[in-house]
Amino acid sequence: QSVLEQLESVILKGEIVTEEQKVLKLSKDYYWYSPVLKDDLEEKKADFIVIPDNTAEVSEILQIARNEQIPVTIRGAGTGNYGQAIPMTGGVVVDLSRLNKVIDMQLGYVKVEAGMRLRDLEKQANVQEQELTIYPSTFAKATVGGFVSGGSGGVGSVTWGNLWDGNVLAATVMTMTDPIEIFTVQGNELKDYIHSYGTTGVLVDVTLPLKPKHNWRQLVLKFDGLSNTLKFTREIAESSNWKKRLVTVLEAPIPSFFKPLKKVITEEGDYAFLEVADEQYEAILSLAKQFKGKEVYTVIPDNYRKGIGISDFTWNHTTLWALKADTDWTYLQNFFELERFEEQIELIKAKFGDEVLIHIEWLRDRGRLIPAGLPLVKYSSKERLYEVIDFFNRNGASVNDPHTYLLGAGGWNLQLESIANKKKINDPYDLLNQGKLPTPEQVSAS
Ligand code: FAD
Repeated sequence: QSVLEQLESVILKGEIVTEEQKVLKLSKDYYWYSPVLKDDLEEKKADFIVIPDNTAEVSEILQIARNEQIPVTIRGAGTGNYGQAIPMTGGVVVDLSRLNKVIDMQLGYVKVEAGMRLRDLEKQANVQEQELTIYPSTFAKATVGGFVSGGSGGVGSVTWGNLWDGNVLAATVMTMTDPIEIFTVQGNELKDYIHSYGTTGVLVDVTLPLKPKHNWRQLVLKFDGLSNTLKFTREIAESSNWKKRLVTVLEAPIPSFFKPLKKVITEEGDYAFLEVADEQYEAILSLAKQFKGKEVYTVIPDNYRKGIGISDFTWNHTTLWALKADTDWTYLQNFFELERFEEQIELIKAKFGDEVLIHIEWLRDRGRLIPAGLPLVKYSSKERLYEVIDFFNRNGASVNDPHTYLLGAGGWNLQLESIANKKKINDPYDLLNQGKLPTPEQVSAS
């Protein structure tokens, strides 16, 4: 029996996709964000896509793939932008989007199947007056398993930190062993699975913390000068007295790329995009006044997430709007140093001018407050891009390179050795997301 025939005999409720165009589409993510990855990954595709309906079907697929020694790449919604979900060596892409049910929701946590979309989950939590701690700006599409396996942080990270900061409580892992095993990991063990691109196992369900729901108010504030915007946002980000979900800084003219906001945004002026507790709205406006900032747009809590909202212009959505305005934009990810971020930004602006536009997402990482950069860079060549990266690094504004599909080469301080060891145990034939975990030679070359 061919692999396809074997799969057809076990996938009874799910779906197998063999049609060329659909296979191509479901083999790709947002890798084209990076002009470097676009060249590297354009040709990659799966042999076929399987969309299982339940965990038992996932297990059947893994068994067949293991017996036949076929590579398997897991897909959530395919919104990753480092080519994480792209099969490097063909084989089967397993799309988990139909594993989308809440298993158990209680006060303080939710256990959910890995393919559930984060926005749907947040909606269900809101019914119980609860909310997620963190989610990516892609939450309308992105899945829980894809976020945990391929993301890092997002809305909420200014208060609650990243995925590694207690924002994942547990995960049920399925291995590519003989026999297939299924077990739950929690606490420190999760480090081998978070942001590991599914190289160490398939997450079939995940338990996330929930917090009491707030009434969030979204705000766009315009400032005269980047320095005032940075100082104001630092005050909001730093003090726990301010209840916030999002504190973003956008240098002019980035906000003018946001077409839906064109009535309220001008080319000049630097902007802060915020999500704050509604009861602090007036106090935030008076603080902004001290830094010569003024409100240009607000979304009241009743309209929160109805239609396009402020968070749709932040995190990596900022880059998406820039790309819509001009396809030559690309981006970097970096951590500025809290002690001297203004000086670091001045050095970068003095060196590169409008070739680099500043975008900051304030976040916490292992408790530390960080002005994290997602700067836009006008792309001219790979060499020039790496000159920019080099300048950032030499000035302590350390870059997590987003122009690589190799796990860990993009930063995030992953424990690659531990992940590699876990992979040997959970995936001894190296079939899960082949080619993403760098070899020791690739690590030293990067
Ligand atoms: P996919 O892209 O489908 O998968 C991501 C990785 O996880 C792949 O390696 C895949 O193989 C693996 N995987 C998926 N599901 C599983 C599973 N169940 N078990 C094991 N492995 C699995 N990221 C952020 O962190 N924060 C942001 O704010 C953010 N904003 C973004 C904005 C835009 C416009 C875009 C294009 C991307 C953004 N990203 C952001 C990146 C991406 O959206 C996130 O990583 C997202 O959470 C991925 O979810 P997904 O379901 O699309 O995962």
